[in-house]
Amino acid sequence: MSGKILRMQPIFQEKLWGGNRLDTVFHYRIPSDHTGECWAISGHPGGDTPIVGMDKTLGQLWKEERRLFGNLPGDIFPLLIKIIDARDDLSIQVHPDDAYAAVHENGSLGKTECWYVLDCDPDATIIIGHNAASREEMAQMVEQNRWQELLREVPIHKGDFFQIDPGCLHAIKGGTLILETQQSSDVTYRFYDYGRLENGKPRQLHIAQSLDVTKAPFVPSTPSQETYAQGDAQVTHLVTCPYYSVYRVCLEGKAQWNWDKPFVNVSILSGEGALDGVPVKKGDHLVLTANYGEMTMEGAMELIYSHP
Ligand code: ZN
Repeated sequence: MSGKILRMQPIFQEKLWGGNRLDTVFHYRIPSDHTGECWAISGHPGGDTPIVGMDKTLGQLWKEERRLFGNLPGDIFPLLIKIIDARDDLSIQVHPDDAYAAVHENGSLGKTECWYVLDCDPDATIIIGHNAASREEMAQMVEQNRWQELLREVPIHKGDFFQIDPGCLHAIKGGTLILETQQSSDVTYRFYDYGRLENGKPRQLHIAQSLDVTKAPFVPSTPSQETYAQGDAQVTHLVTCPYYSVYRVCLEGKAQWNWDKPFVNVSILSGEGALDGVPVKKGDHLVLTANYGEMTMEGAMELIYSHP
């Protein structure tokens, strides 16, 4: 091997809709029982993860030692990995694509994201897409407050995976714990907030932009998933899109890898084991640096990995 294993120190964000599962499930030390987000691997200024044992954050390392990331271009570490604990419903939102964001959001990037359901209540649902046949019909339904009819709500189960392309309306609903892999961007248009108040006032909505960027009619994105054996591991390829590829690994024993990517994000979801002898356990988040090379993975664990 020629690469390094960087261990991240997660950052926690309190949210009105957050809960305590980041403590009860992952045993993180969280700031309160309204903790909504764990920013696990991030170079984003809104929560730039420190690297354990180095006096640097991932964002600083990206700026200063780009060769560790295969000399990829860009101002910011391009992917952001979060664990989201939604005790209550999040607002309905939509993200623009890169082209729209570049023009309307000062050259920002758009956002593509995907969700892996870590756990959820038995009757949990999410919002993904809508039921309007056209943008005109969507605008009319919004005008007439026919949200229930407009929004496409689907039941979810542990282990489900959803790809959310720009222009796809979406919301995580209460009782859901997910791992999110996304482009590192913050451009979000809030479409609907169930008429809720925050500190006595409704939160700002972006109806015009949302109608502008939402694709109609909605076409579900269903990436074809393939599972294969690699040593004692079962590997499922969850998605490949222009920004990332995401895989799930269930390991019971030993498996070999040969990494040739600019970097790889690894999140341990359950169990424990070792990566080239480095002990890892549930809740650990690691970054393998450029062209890491051969690796022996051992243990009994489930993990998600992603690369650009
Ligand atoms: Zn989103």
